[in-house]
Amino acid sequence: MPGLPEDCNDPAMTSTVTLGVDIGGTKVLVAAVRFPASEGSEVEGIPLEVIRTLKRPVRADVVEVTDDVTAAVREVLALLESTGELPAGMGIGVAGLVDRSGVVRRSPNVAGVDGRDLGELLHEATGLPTVVANDANCVAVAAQSALHPTPGHLLALTFGTGIGGGLISSGELQLGDSGYALEPGHMVVVPGGVPCGCGQRGCWERYASGPAISRAAENMLSEGLWTAPTPSSAPAPGGPISSEEVIALARQGDESALAVVGDFAEWMSFGLANLIQVLDPGRIVISGGLAQEADLFLDDVVKKVGDNPQLADHHVEISVAPWGSNAGAIGAALLARSAGLSTGSAGLSTGSAGLSTGSAVETASPATNERG
Ligand SMILES: [Zn+2]
Repeated sequence: MPGLPEDCNDPAMTSTVTLGVDIGGTKVLVAAVRFPASEGSEVEGIPLEVIRTLKRPVRADVVEVTDDVTAAVREVLALLESTGELPAGMGIGVAGLVDRSGVVRRSPNVAGVDGRDLGELLHEATGLPTVVANDANCVAVAAQSALHPTPGHLLALTFGTGIGGGLISSGELQLGDSGYALEPGHMVVVPGGVPCGCGQRGCWERYASGPAISRAAENMLSEGLWTAPTPSSAPAPGGPISSEEVIALARQGDESALAVVGDFAEWMSFGLANLIQVLDPGRIVISGGLAQEADLFLDDVVKKVGDNPQLADHHVEISVAPWGSNAGAIGAALLARSAGLSTGSAGLSTGSAGLSTGSAVETASPATNERG
């Protein structure tokens, strides 16, 4: 490449690294994402590369959840230090209502973040300028960057401790007036139903999530319908049966566990059908912990949605989000980059979500190279 210094083959000289952080109900995932160096936010036609990922649990019963996130970020910074590729900025995706200034207003599934300016707190703790966005919005941005051509309406849904949503419409991430658009997990599907962390009862995420799978198995156990060996975590008797154990038993072909997974698929398809009728997306991508188990249920969900007579004329492709479980962290890094935080030239120091993604992330390639 003429005009570049001789050591331009050093990735640190020809690229910039941005951190993406995905904070969920039980864990934090930090990804170091390498982008080609450029002054602007355009990444068109140029692949990004995930050079490090690190997953750590977050405590669910402490106020200082930022301590756990900060520790994970510092761990990645220490790993990057030896390579000379230190990031210039960071994007945070977090489950819950994130307002347009980047403050987390309410998060039913992540303890200790309500009302907190995570961008400012993590900037102070790590020295990295930080933007904050809803986690499912980050998944939507990551999917937009990977899928070409992007459909007019692209809906991203996360299925884990709860359900999150993000919508790209005509190339733009849709935030709503306050920044809270697309919180489908708290659509009430059973009036007076199971209590939700948001304060309502009968929210969709109480029926199509990890805790819902766990609860359904426990109900079967208490009703004498659970024919599988009692999982090791089941208390004596009656502690929680984890969704992971139910999934593992389903993979072994256990009928009780398969019935629970089938029930989950039914609830998931109800919600998808409702969202399709409201939004008419051309593409739905699913992410989150349960998406990693999609081979167990997604065909069933697609069939149920396809069998819905009201949706006979709709054309929607439903799939697991590109980049799998890294999608939220990659999308957070993309948002930080589009806010100018990957070049070290950002006037934006903290807080503001900088969500005017536009075409800036439309054509990044999903090629990744994960380590760590
Ligand atoms: Zn709710």
